[in-house]
Amino acid sequence: MDLGIAGKKAIVCAASKGLGRGCAESLAREGVDVTICARSEGPLNETADAIRALDGGAVNAVACDITTEEGRQAVLDACPNPDILINNAGGPPPGDFRDWERDDWISAVDSNMLTPIFLIKATVDGMIERKFGRIVNITSGAVKSPIEILGLSNGARAGLTGFVAGISRQTVRHNVTINNLLPGPFDTDRLRGNFKVQSEKLGLSIEEVAAKRAAGNPAGRFGTAHEFGEMCAFICSDQAGFMTGQNFLMDGGAFNSTM
Ligand code: NAP
Repeated sequence: MDLGIAGKKAIVCAASKGLGRGCAESLAREGVDVTICARSEGPLNETADAIRALDGGAVNAVACDITTEEGRQAVLDACPNPDILINNAGGPPPGDFRDWERDDWISAVDSNMLTPIFLIKATVDGMIERKFGRIVNITSGAVKSPIEILGLSNGARAGLTGFVAGISRQTVRHNVTINNLLPGPFDTDRLRGNFKVQSEKLGLSIEEVAAKRAAGNPAGRFGTAHEFGEMCAFICSDQAGFMTGQNFLMDGGAFNSTM
């Protein structure tokens, strides 16, 4: 299926690894010119080279912290008029809410709620003028089904979800859609990092913890960044203009409900 987005320009945040990288690869394969960012320059440049080798759209890499105003400005300077915006950043740390002070909450809200909101604010009017825009926020399955130890994530991402629910109905008549993509367990460094903590707690190896978790998912495995990227690219397609304000859960069926 030709997604009809070759030649479009995309900003893909936090994309040197994991889910962001998966999205950048899938978009570039469709012929989209991608501007990717991450904080560590080395891995970012390696990823940029790997995406260039796919022979799709052009790749621009900006080393920055997307949760800062300077970082967002650097990305917007590199790609001032994006047609596609993929919002992503690292997730907040796990813990007990009794230990979190105001600064912990401000940092989570900055990363996982305000950063995507400010990037939407900076880009959405241009998309409306050009009559094409696709915005995808990478959030989490935790928005639908809270994860006890990830209270900072549950709270901050729910705030973004509420904001998007409202604004996405105001932009769609201009062919600008805003949707959220909710990952369940995907095999990335972030997930493996969580297993490290659990393996120390349970006295099991990281592989044993991973195998147990994978077996407990209805799919019997974790998702891949490639699957995530392909779904993201479809949401960004020309064909997906009638879909807005949705929360697409990709979790292998782990969230158990009839609808
Ligand atoms: P990952 O494999 O650890 O990759 C994170 C990427 O984001 C890296 O490229 C990292 O590069 C970049 N990054 C992190 N903080 C950044 C910042 N402040 N500014 C710019 N770049 C930044 O993580 P992932 O698994 O892809 O997760 C992506 C998002 O999905 C996270 O918010 C995570 O909480 C959420 N999520 C993931 C899963 C899962 O199963 N994987 C499930 C639910 C939710 P640098 O470190 O060099 O900046």
